[in-house]
Amino acid sequence: MHNTTDNSADPAVIALHHIHARIIRAALESGRIALTAVSKTFDDTVILPVLHAGQRIFGENRVQEAKAKWPQLRRQFPDIELHLIGPLQSNKAAEAVALFDVIETVDREKIAAALAQEVQKQHKPMRFYVQVNTGLEPQKAGIAPQEATAFVKRCREHHKLTIEGLMCIPPADENPGPHFALLAKLGKAAGLAKFSMGMSGDFETAIAFGATSVRVGSAIFGHRDHAAAQ
Ligand SMILES: *Cc1c(COP(=O)(O)O)cnc(C)c1O
Repeated sequence: MHNTTDNSADPAVIALHHIHARIIRAALESGRIALTAVSKTFDDTVILPVLHAGQRIFGENRVQEAKAKWPQLRRQFPDIELHLIGPLQSNKAAEAVALFDVIETVDREKIAAALAQEVQKQHKPMRFYVQVNTGLEPQKAGIAPQEATAFVKRCREHHKLTIEGLMCIPPADENPGPHFALLAKLGKAAGLAKFSMGMSGDFETAIAFGATSVRVGSAIFGHRDHAAAQ
């Protein structure tokens, strides 16, 4: 935005701000850009006001924590859409499919196979993202960028998973822009149009690089205990 002078009482400026708000609301409601509110480590008292304000898409990074929190909330708000954004072990695939609507962290053959089996067993329409380790960080989940296209193809054709898009978490100490650009490039090569990228510190950058959903936690819910947040 190119701004400076405070002319916020001007009727046309007030109208302009209303139009900005309506454009944003339309973009969110149409799903052009989705906001995933990352509620990990926070309990009902913090989540409920956000639900009452109309937010419906939430992200959790642990299956056990989601299981303790979300089934009750779903009874009150049946249109909640819950995303798993943390790493998944194949022995938790059944619980993950039962609890979540979207799993964003498919990153290896074993997990794809376990999820495919559960989707069949539970007859549940699930959507998935493939997580890409764009920074090739050894401690981080995600498939290597050079393997992403073939893996997406295998998930779709062999495992019949509905892969919607790609997800990444750039290295904490690097400029995220090149990572977002790489994710968008890999997605396009794989015929995917959805990109889950950007968090509290970098979601505007992610949107500039084509994010279709941003995962925002601390900027909504406040500071987390760091140990619990990983
Ligand atoms: C915790 C987490 C977020 C949210 O991080 P904030 O910096 O609090 O916005 C987003 N994505 C993933 C995968 C996370 O684990």
